[in-house]
Amino acid sequence: MSDRIWVPPTEWERGVQEIEPTTRTRQLEDGRVMSESRLTLSPEWMDELWKGYRCAACLEQQIEAFPEVCRAPWCSYPIKAEQTRQMQIDFVGQQPNPMTGFSLERELEHLERVRHEKKPLMTVPKKIT
Ligand SMILES: [Zn+2]
Repeated sequence: MSDRIWVPPTEWERGVQEIEPTTRTRQLEDGRVMSESRLTLSPEWMDELWKGYRCAACLEQQIEAFPEVCRAPWCSYPIKAEQTRQMQIDFVGQQPNPMTGFSLERELEHLERVRHEKKPLMTVPKKIT
C-alpha cells in the first residue's frame, strides 16, 4: 500500500508525453536564439493543435478554433495567421500523411514529362559552301 495520495495527472501531464531537448535552435525575429525541445504530444493534443483549438506556442487550450491570437495573456501568438504554417514546419513527419510518397512520385513523374515535352532546340549547322 502506498502512503502517497494518488493525484490524477494534470492536463499537461496527459497531453505532453515526452520532452527531450534537441540541438535545434530557432532564431526569433528580434534576434534572440532559442533552443528547442522536442515534445511528444498525445494524439488528442495533436488533433486540437491541427484544428486550431490549442496554441502551438504555449499549448494553451483555446475556446474557439483558430482565434486571431492565443487567449493566454502571456502568449498572444497569432494562431490564425501562423499556426498551420508553423506546425507544418515543426511537426513534419508527425502527422499522418499517406500522401507523401505518392506526391513525390507524382512530382518525379511531372518532371519527367516536362523534360520529354521540351522541344529540343537544335540548330542545324549551315554547311559552308
Ligand atoms: Zn499561446
